[in-house]
Amino acid sequence: MVANTEFFNRAKKFLPGGVNSPVRAFKAVKTPPIVIKKGEGPYLEDVEGNRYVDFLMSWGPLILGHKHPVVVEEVNRAVEGGLSFGLTNPYEIELAEEVVESVPSIGKVRFVNSGTEAVMSAIRLARGISGRKYIVKFEGCYHGHYDSVLVNAGSGVATFAIPGTPGIPDEIAKLTFVLPYNDSEAVRELFSKEGEKIAAVIVEPVAGNMGVVLPKEDFLKTLREETSKYGALLIFDEVITGFRLSLGGAQEYFKIEPDLTTLGKIVGGGMPVGAYGGQKAFMERVAPEGEIYQAGTLSGNPIAMAAGLATIRVLKNTKPYKLLEERTASFVERISKLLTEKGIAHSYNQIGSMFTIFFTDKKVENYKDATSSNLELFAKFFKNLLKNGILIPPSQFEAWFLSIAHEDKVLEESLERIEKAIKEL
Ligand SMILES: *Cc1c(COP(=O)(O)O)cnc(C)c1O
Repeated sequence: MVANTEFFNRAKKFLPGGVNSPVRAFKAVKTPPIVIKKGEGPYLEDVEGNRYVDFLMSWGPLILGHKHPVVVEEVNRAVEGGLSFGLTNPYEIELAEEVVESVPSIGKVRFVNSGTEAVMSAIRLARGISGRKYIVKFEGCYHGHYDSVLVNAGSGVATFAIPGTPGIPDEIAKLTFVLPYNDSEAVRELFSKEGEKIAAVIVEPVAGNMGVVLPKEDFLKTLREETSKYGALLIFDEVITGFRLSLGGAQEYFKIEPDLTTLGKIVGGGMPVGAYGGQKAFMERVAPEGEIYQAGTLSGNPIAMAAGLATIRVLKNTKPYKLLEERTASFVERISKLLTEKGIAHSYNQIGSMFTIFFTDKKVENYKDATSSNLELFAKFFKNLLKNGILIPPSQFEAWFLSIAHEDKVLEESLERIEKAIKEL
């Protein structure tokens, strides 16, 4: 048996920080990272053979749990046919049909290879359609690592407190306005001054990357009204919420339709997939139907499409959303009760099968509230949980996810372990 540390030391020689994505290094929680051997249902196993109940779920894609048999079977079938053709295959057409049928505002969709790529392409399309340069984003929202949106972002960047990053020219950053999340007044004020210049507003309709933060009653409505009034496009970044809150994502949940939608995570069923879509008139501007260019050698890859297709079909056939929401609500309530009994100041936000417990007594409504959390305490909480066989996101500013594999008995077992971890805090 090779230890996690041994693997990771080797990784550090060949990969920057030992990882291919920064938060995997567990820096914010000051804990040596684990190296994963395999996953099964709600469980993960590291290279040392330690088993964890997984509440990270690959950062969101695995709403069916690890290795769901229907997904694995469909992927195996696709593999038999060959790994990549660089030409159109039936899987991508079928997945496109499912996406268009599920997501209210999407009439046509283009598949790409990551959420970042989806956002980058949607912003280019919005700029191409509107003939304008400026975009608006919200503090603490993360939209991937594309230059225009990697300013005041959440997740890794918030965790490491890097203000944007070196490597993004000022000239590019200056084309992005950043406003506080949930601040409708700030949105109206900006539009009254700069509305004619704004190509698009991009928002996580439920924020997941400063921890889970719900939109206030009027927030999304204000975005819809102001963008329409000034001829800007509204982009919902549903990379997390798409197929997570409902089949139609947050736009179906809140009954507000954006102009463009970005998808990722669940739509790829655990494979590297992103997508962007919107009403036909917009998407017909994308090459080769239109003049706004975007391409990808591996886009629509048959194996990736097969995983997404099988995932969405299982969701469509089983409609697990109500059950997932009930289980999650009761689960987080019980964790909160344990923390209260221990006298630990905290609050939580939950919607559907995603939630975050913040170590602050503030009700978290924006990034500033989220950053009032006690990060030392979070780090200790994370460490204690890991020791007791529970894996949660290694940052305060991320969402815990439940999957359909997190059945009642798994959650009971988890609560016992969580109780132990809290007692040791
Ligand atoms: C994960 C995420 C992205 C980026 O997706 P990648 O596949 O990691 O590039 C974009 N937007 C949101 C809301 C995300 O959660």
